[in-house]
Amino acid sequence: MNPTQPVIAVVGGGISGVILTIALTRRGLNVQLYEQAAKFGEIGAGVAFGPNAVRAMGVCSPDVTRAFETVVTRNQSPEKQQVWFDFCDGFSDYPVGEEKVLFTLANEMGVMSVHRANFLDAMVKLVPDGITQFNKRLESIEEPDSLNDKVKIKFQDGTEALADAVIGCDGIKSRTRAWMLGQNHPGAKPVYTHKYAYRGLIPMEKAIEALGEQNAKNAKMHLGRDGHFLTFPVQGGKTMNVVAFRTKSDPWPDQSRMTKPSTKEAAFADFKDFGPTVQKIIELLEPNLDIWGIFDTGDHPMAAYNKGRVCVVGDAAHATSPHHGAGAGICIEDSAVLAELLASPEIRAAGMRGFEAAFQIFSDCRKERTQWLVQSSRRSGDLYEWRAKGVEDDFEKIGAECKERCEKIWDGQIEDMCHDALSCVATALQRVN
Ligand SMILES: Cc1cc2nc3c(=O)[nH]c(=O)nc-3n(C[C@H](O)[C@H](O)[C@H](O)COP(=O)(O)OP(=O)(O)OC[C@H]3O[C@@H](n4cnc5c(N)ncnc54)[C@H](O)[C@@H]3O)c2cc1C
Repeated sequence: MNPTQPVIAVVGGGISGVILTIALTRRGLNVQLYEQAAKFGEIGAGVAFGPNAVRAMGVCSPDVTRAFETVVTRNQSPEKQQVWFDFCDGFSDYPVGEEKVLFTLANEMGVMSVHRANFLDAMVKLVPDGITQFNKRLESIEEPDSLNDKVKIKFQDGTEALADAVIGCDGIKSRTRAWMLGQNHPGAKPVYTHKYAYRGLIPMEKAIEALGEQNAKNAKMHLGRDGHFLTFPVQGGKTMNVVAFRTKSDPWPDQSRMTKPSTKEAAFADFKDFGPTVQKIIELLEPNLDIWGIFDTGDHPMAAYNKGRVCVVGDAAHATSPHHGAGAGICIEDSAVLAELLASPEIRAAGMRGFEAAFQIFSDCRKERTQWLVQSSRRSGDLYEWRAKGVEDDFEKIGAECKERCEKIWDGQIEDMCHDALSCVATALQRVN
């Protein structure tokens, strides 16, 4: 820490908070990272990244890309290196492992997946020592009375901290967002999308034995009516990750918890109309499974991601359902753009006003793409499940629309995003001064 320089408090040590912290500290900025848990950790299994995410990692820091390369798993077959997913008919009665491929989406890097915990561990090693405080659950924030005062952060344990600026990376149930909008604002809480997912991991040898090598070792999306089922390799190909989505109109039982315990029997019942390959994959799952409710912020998108010297980033700002496999990637784009802004010499020279200007630019520049992703992900979930209006089970139309939507994500050029944001600095500084 350089005591003469302002302090940025980052609240939340998930993918957004940790990568943003790395990006800021690598640019010589002072950061204090506050995490509610007793240690860094991720729950859940695999997370996939597209080319836009990998390019954004490089802007955050080349060390982030290098660390990612140590934990990434790609499709295992040489001819599938550029394939994102093969989209198959998981509903019809094809024999196990012989589902019809309806269409394939591909990009220059293919699908790049990591085991969440391994990825976070690799990133955490890049966070400088001594700047993280654990067991610090943000309760509320107090804005300063004047430019010379600091923002006060209050934690659930009764302690407080002061910072010159606060960045909420506290995820889908963000306290920072609730503080910015007001507790009773409908956007303060995420909404249930009426989709839920079973998640599981299957040892690769078992998956190969049951499904055949090509099916087990490469990313597959099994489409069907009111459900979809995806499998991809993680952990260097030692494990097959499974995420099985189902749509139902029932309400989610407990809004305060996003997961609930379930069983393989319940998964069989949910996917009873699906084809033999999907049934076979369920057979391979553990008897006890967790169900994840799929929530997002799509009903009440935030009008702004900033308020004075406070800002929200990642899921705290724009939590998306996972149907594009791009939520974490877009968090990394956020981190890259915000780090570039906060490190800009003009922003740094402007002191406290610089934070206000940077956060305003961040909000203005990121809103459209990030909120589009939230809506597009909802639409994609429905396309995979033959529920999208005007498309239903017309596979040619599903393929064409999925391609167009995915390419908009993958083609995102982080250098251009940063350039556009930085080109707003002079005007934004004039506005706040
Ligand atoms: C089923 C599923 C599958 C997904 N698959 C993909 C995928 O394949 N590809 C992809 O790109 N994205 C995927 N996503 C989305 C991705 O997981 C998220 O976008 C990403 O993890 C969000 O990171 P984050 O750091 O913003 O939030 P989080 O990961 O939620 O991290 C928030 C952090 O803040 C801490 N925190 C929370 N509240 C407080 C508080 N009050 N005070 C202090 N600390 C606090 C938490 O403990 C946590 O460490 C998926 C999501 C789901 C649900």
